[in-house]
Amino acid sequence: MAQLPLGGLAAPLAPSSAPSRRKARTREPARPAAEPAGDPEAAVRAKALLVHKRLCAEYHCPISYFHNLDPVSELVSSLLSHRTRNADSGAAFKRLRERFPTWEDVIEAPTAEVEEAIHGVRWPELKAPRIQEILAQVLARVGDLDLDFLAEMGVDRARAWLEELSGIGPKTSAAVLSFSRLRMPALPVDSHHHRVAQRLGLIGAKVAVGPSHTVLRAQLPGDWDAQTLYDNHEILMLHGQRVCHHRAPRCGACVVRDICPSADHVG
Ligand code: SF4
Repeated sequence: MAQLPLGGLAAPLAPSSAPSRRKARTREPARPAAEPAGDPEAAVRAKALLVHKRLCAEYHCPISYFHNLDPVSELVSSLLSHRTRNADSGAAFKRLRERFPTWEDVIEAPTAEVEEAIHGVRWPELKAPRIQEILAQVLARVGDLDLDFLAEMGVDRARAWLEELSGIGPKTSAAVLSFSRLRMPALPVDSHHHRVAQRLGLIGAKVAVGPSHTVLRAQLPGDWDAQTLYDNHEILMLHGQRVCHHRAPRCGACVVRDICPSADHVG
Protein backbone atom coordinates (compact mmCIF):
# COMPACT_ATOMS: atom_id res chain seq x y z
CA MET A 1 0.00 0.00 0.00
CA ALA A 2 1.33 3.41 -0.88
CA GLN A 3 2.45 5.46 2.08
CA LEU A 4 0.53 8.65 2.69
CA PRO A 5 2.74 11.44 4.01
CA LEU A 6 1.88 12.44 7.54
CA GLY A 7 1.41 16.09 8.21
CA GLY A 8 -0.91 18.70 9.65
CA LEU A 9 -4.26 17.77 11.05
CA ALA A 10 -6.79 19.92 9.29
CA ALA A 11 -9.55 21.36 11.43
CA PRO A 12 -12.08 23.97 10.44
CA LEU A 13 -12.25 27.45 11.71
CA ALA A 14 -14.39 27.62 14.78
CA PRO A 15 -17.67 29.42 14.28
CA SER A 16 -16.76 32.17 16.72
CA SER A 17 -16.68 35.72 15.50
CA ALA A 18 -13.50 37.50 14.48
CA PRO A 19 -11.46 38.68 17.43
CA SER A 20 -11.79 42.24 18.57
CA ARG A 21 -8.60 44.27 18.28
CA ARG A 22 -9.89 46.87 20.73
CA LYS A 23 -9.00 44.80 23.74
CA ALA A 24 -6.09 45.78 25.89
CA ARG A 25 -3.34 43.36 24.95
CA THR A 26 -1.33 43.21 28.10
CA ARG A 27 -3.21 42.64 31.32
CA GLU A 28 -0.80 40.35 33.10
CA PRO A 29 2.88 40.72 33.73
CA ALA A 30 5.08 39.25 31.00
CA ARG A 31 6.59 36.93 33.59
CA PRO A 32 3.77 35.34 35.65
CA ALA A 33 4.04 36.05 39.35
CA ALA A 34 3.77 32.33 40.15
CA GLU A 35 6.83 31.45 38.09
CA PRO A 36 9.33 29.84 40.43
CA ALA A 37 12.80 31.24 40.01
CA GLY A 38 15.27 28.77 38.55
CA ASP A 39 12.68 26.14 37.59
CA PRO A 40 12.39 26.21 33.79
CA GLU A 41 9.75 23.48 33.66
CA ALA A 42 7.50 25.35 36.08
CA ALA A 43 8.14 28.54 34.12
CA VAL A 44 7.02 26.99 30.84
CA ARG A 45 3.91 25.54 32.53
CA ALA A 46 3.06 28.99 33.88
CA LYS A 47 3.60 30.45 30.43
CA ALA A 48 1.38 27.81 28.81
CA LEU A 49 -1.41 28.75 31.23
CA LEU A 50 -0.96 32.44 30.54
CA VAL A 51 -1.09 31.82 26.78
CA HIS A 52 -4.25 29.77 27.27
CA LYS A 53 -5.87 32.54 29.32
CA ARG A 54 -5.00 35.30 26.85
CA LEU A 55 -6.02 33.36 23.73
CA CYS A 56 -9.21 32.07 25.37
CA ALA A 57 -10.24 35.67 25.99
CA GLU A 58 -9.32 36.56 22.42
CA TYR A 59 -11.17 33.69 20.73
CA HIS A 60 -14.04 33.37 23.16
CA CYS A 61 -13.77 30.05 24.92
CA PRO A 62 -15.52 27.69 25.17
CA ILE A 63 -15.15 26.97 21.46
CA SER A 64 -18.00 25.07 19.82
CA TYR A 65 -17.24 21.56 18.64
CA PHE A 66 -17.45 21.32 14.84
CA HIS A 67 -18.27 17.59 14.71
CA ASN A 68 -20.40 15.13 16.61
CA LEU A 69 -19.47 12.05 14.63
CA ASP A 70 -19.07 8.52 15.93
CA PRO A 71 -15.37 7.68 16.33
CA VAL A 72 -15.10 5.51 13.19
CA SER A 73 -16.57 8.31 11.09
CA GLU A 74 -14.26 10.80 12.80
CA LEU A 75 -11.33 8.56 11.95
CA VAL A 76 -12.29 8.60 8.26
CA SER A 77 -12.93 12.34 8.39
CA SER A 78 -9.48 12.92 9.90
CA LEU A 79 -7.83 10.85 7.18
CA LEU A 80 -9.64 12.81 4.47
CA SER A 81 -8.76 16.17 6.01
CA HIS A 82 -5.00 15.70 5.86
CA ARG A 83 -3.49 18.63 3.91
CA THR A 84 -6.92 19.43 2.46
CA ARG A 85 -9.19 22.45 2.83
CA ASN A 86 -12.00 21.84 5.28
CA ALA A 87 -14.69 22.53 2.69
CA ASP A 88 -13.16 19.96 0.30
CA SER A 89 -12.69 17.23 2.91
CA GLY A 90 -16.19 17.85 4.25
CA ALA A 91 -17.68 17.53 0.76
CA ALA A 92 -15.67 14.33 0.14
CA PHE A 93 -16.88 12.82 3.41
CA LYS A 94 -20.47 13.62 2.47
CA ARG A 95 -20.09 12.03 -0.97
CA LEU A 96 -18.49 8.95 0.53
CA ARG A 97 -21.40 8.52 2.95
CA GLU A 98 -23.97 9.03 0.22
CA ARG A 99 -22.35 6.55 -2.13
CA PHE A 100 -21.60 3.89 0.48
CA PRO A 101 -24.26 3.66 3.19
CA THR A 102 -22.03 1.68 5.59
CA TRP A 103 -18.31 1.57 6.31
CA GLU A 104 -18.42 -2.14 5.46
CA ASP A 105 -19.52 -1.08 1.97
CA VAL A 106 -16.42 1.11 1.71
CA ILE A 107 -14.16 -1.81 2.61
CA GLU A 108 -15.73 -4.03 -0.05
CA ALA A 109 -15.97 -1.39 -2.79
CA PRO A 110 -13.53 -1.24 -5.70
CA THR A 111 -10.82 1.19 -4.63
CA ALA A 112 -11.35 3.22 -7.80
CA GLU A 113 -14.93 3.92 -6.70
CA VAL A 114 -13.80 5.08 -3.26
CA GLU A 115 -11.19 7.27 -4.92
CA GLU A 116 -13.84 8.74 -7.19
CA ALA A 117 -16.12 9.47 -4.22
CA ILE A 118 -13.42 11.39 -2.36
CA HIS A 119 -12.16 13.42 -5.30
CA GLY A 120 -11.35 16.94 -4.25
CA VAL A 121 -9.16 15.95 -1.31
CA ARG A 122 -5.41 15.94 -1.68
CA TRP A 123 -3.94 12.58 -2.71
CA PRO A 124 -7.25 10.70 -3.23
CA GLU A 125 -5.30 7.86 -4.87
CA LEU A 126 -3.43 7.32 -1.59
CA LYS A 127 -6.27 8.09 0.80
CA ALA A 128 -8.79 5.71 -0.79
CA PRO A 129 -6.77 2.50 -0.23
CA ARG A 130 -5.57 3.76 3.12
CA ILE A 131 -9.12 4.35 4.36
CA GLN A 132 -10.13 0.88 3.18
CA GLU A 133 -7.11 -0.69 4.85
CA ILE A 134 -7.66 1.05 8.18
CA LEU A 135 -11.37 0.24 8.24
CA ALA A 136 -10.51 -3.38 7.48
CA GLN A 137 -8.02 -3.42 10.35
CA VAL A 138 -10.65 -2.05 12.75
CA LEU A 139 -13.13 -4.68 11.59
CA ALA A 140 -10.56 -7.46 12.02
CA ARG A 141 -9.50 -6.33 15.49
CA VAL A 142 -12.93 -5.46 16.91
CA GLY A 143 -15.24 -7.71 14.91
CA ASP A 144 -17.37 -4.66 14.21
CA LEU A 145 -16.94 -1.14 12.87
CA ASP A 146 -17.61 0.47 16.22
CA LEU A 147 -15.02 2.27 18.33
CA ASP A 148 -17.27 3.42 21.15
CA PHE A 149 -15.46 1.01 23.49
CA LEU A 150 -12.48 3.40 23.46
CA ALA A 151 -14.36 5.59 25.92
CA GLU A 152 -13.88 2.94 28.59
CA MET A 153 -10.12 2.67 28.07
CA GLY A 154 -8.96 6.11 29.16
CA VAL A 155 -7.06 8.47 26.89
CA ASP A 156 -3.59 6.90 27.02
CA ARG A 157 -4.73 3.35 26.31
CA ALA A 158 -7.26 4.48 23.70
CA ARG A 159 -4.59 6.45 21.86
CA ALA A 160 -2.19 3.54 21.99
CA TRP A 161 -4.90 1.27 20.56
CA LEU A 162 -5.56 3.64 17.67
CA GLU A 163 -1.87 4.16 16.97
CA GLU A 164 -1.46 0.43 16.40
CA LEU A 165 -3.49 0.92 13.20
CA SER A 166 -1.34 1.40 10.09
CA GLY A 167 -0.15 4.97 9.71
CA ILE A 168 -2.16 6.40 12.60
CA GLY A 169 -0.07 8.84 14.65
CA PRO A 170 -0.69 11.06 17.66
CA LYS A 171 -2.53 13.75 15.71
CA THR A 172 -5.16 11.42 14.35
CA SER A 173 -5.54 9.42 17.55
CA ALA A 174 -6.06 12.59 19.58
CA ALA A 175 -8.46 13.99 16.99
CA VAL A 176 -10.62 10.86 17.05
CA LEU A 177 -10.91 10.98 20.83
CA SER A 178 -11.38 14.74 21.12
CA PHE A 179 -13.44 15.68 18.06
CA SER A 180 -15.77 12.68 17.93
CA ARG A 181 -18.82 12.26 20.12
CA LEU A 182 -16.56 10.44 22.61
CA ARG A 183 -15.38 13.90 23.77
CA MET A 184 -12.37 12.52 25.57
CA PRO A 185 -9.66 14.78 27.09
CA ALA A 186 -6.96 14.40 24.42
CA LEU A 187 -4.89 17.23 22.96
CA PRO A 188 -4.45 17.23 19.18
CA VAL A 189 -1.63 19.37 17.73
CA ASP A 190 -1.92 20.47 14.13
CA SER A 191 0.65 22.41 12.12
CA HIS A 192 -0.73 25.83 13.17
CA HIS A 193 -0.83 24.85 16.85
CA HIS A 194 2.71 23.49 16.56
CA ARG A 195 4.07 26.63 14.86
CA VAL A 196 2.59 28.99 17.45
CA ALA A 197 3.84 26.83 20.34
CA GLN A 198 7.33 26.82 18.85
CA ARG A 199 7.43 30.57 18.31
CA LEU A 200 6.23 31.16 21.85
CA GLY A 201 9.00 28.93 23.19
CA LEU A 202 6.64 26.33 24.66
CA ILE A 203 8.51 23.69 22.65
CA GLY A 204 11.99 23.71 21.19
CA ALA A 205 12.78 24.43 17.57
CA LYS A 206 13.63 20.78 16.91
CA VAL A 207 10.51 19.22 18.48
CA ALA A 208 8.43 17.81 15.62
CA VAL A 209 4.64 17.72 15.57
CA GLY A 210 4.43 14.09 16.70
CA PRO A 211 6.58 14.37 19.84
CA SER A 212 5.10 17.79 20.63
CA HIS A 213 1.83 16.12 21.65
CA THR A 214 3.37 14.68 24.80
CA VAL A 215 5.36 17.82 25.64
CA LEU A 216 2.46 20.25 25.22
CA ARG A 217 -0.02 18.03 27.06
CA ALA A 218 2.37 17.72 30.01
CA GLN A 219 2.49 21.50 30.36
CA LEU A 220 -1.24 21.69 31.01
CA PRO A 221 -3.04 20.59 34.18
CA GLY A 222 -3.67 16.85 34.28
CA ASP A 223 -7.26 17.34 35.41
CA TRP A 224 -8.36 19.56 32.52
CA ASP A 225 -11.55 18.26 30.96
CA ALA A 226 -12.19 17.50 27.29
CA GLN A 227 -13.69 20.92 26.52
CA THR A 228 -10.76 22.82 28.04
CA LEU A 229 -8.16 20.76 26.18
CA TYR A 230 -10.18 21.14 23.00
CA ASP A 231 -10.23 24.90 23.61
CA ASN A 232 -6.45 24.90 24.07
CA HIS A 233 -5.94 23.20 20.72
CA GLU A 234 -8.49 25.37 18.93
CA ILE A 235 -7.22 28.72 20.22
CA LEU A 236 -3.60 27.97 19.32
CA MET A 237 -4.74 26.75 15.91
CA LEU A 238 -6.93 29.82 15.39
CA HIS A 239 -4.08 32.08 16.43
CA GLY A 240 -1.88 30.42 13.84
CA GLN A 241 -4.54 30.78 11.15
CA ARG A 242 -5.49 34.38 11.90
CA VAL A 243 -2.44 36.12 13.39
CA CYS A 244 0.71 34.01 13.71
CA HIS A 245 0.84 33.11 10.02
CA HIS A 246 3.51 30.85 8.61
CA ARG A 247 4.89 33.80 6.68
CA ALA A 248 4.71 37.35 7.97
CA PRO A 249 2.99 36.86 11.33
CA ARG A 250 1.05 39.90 12.50
CA CYS A 251 2.97 40.43 15.72
CA GLY A 252 1.61 43.94 16.08
CA ALA A 253 -1.90 42.49 16.51
CA CYS A 254 -0.87 39.63 18.81
CA VAL A 255 -2.18 39.37 22.37
CA VAL A 256 0.82 37.32 23.51
CA ARG A 257 3.47 39.48 21.90
CA ASP A 258 4.92 40.59 25.23
CA ILE A 259 5.74 37.01 26.22
CA CYS A 260 6.86 35.80 22.78
CA PRO A 261 10.60 35.45 22.14
CA SER A 262 9.91 35.40 18.38
CA ALA A 263 7.96 38.67 18.28
CA ASP A 264 9.02 40.77 15.30
CA HIS A 265 11.78 38.28 14.47
CA VAL A 266 9.90 36.03 12.02
CA GLY A 267 10.14 37.21 8.44
S1 SF4 B 1 4.29 37.75 18.73
FE1 SF4 B 1 4.36 37.21 16.54
S2 SF4 B 1 5.58 35.33 16.43
FE2 SF4 B 1 4.92 35.57 18.58
S3 SF4 B 1 2.99 34.39 18.75
FE3 SF4 B 1 2.44 36.53 18.27
S4 SF4 B 1 2.25 36.61 16.03
FE4 SF4 B 1 3.39 34.72 16.56
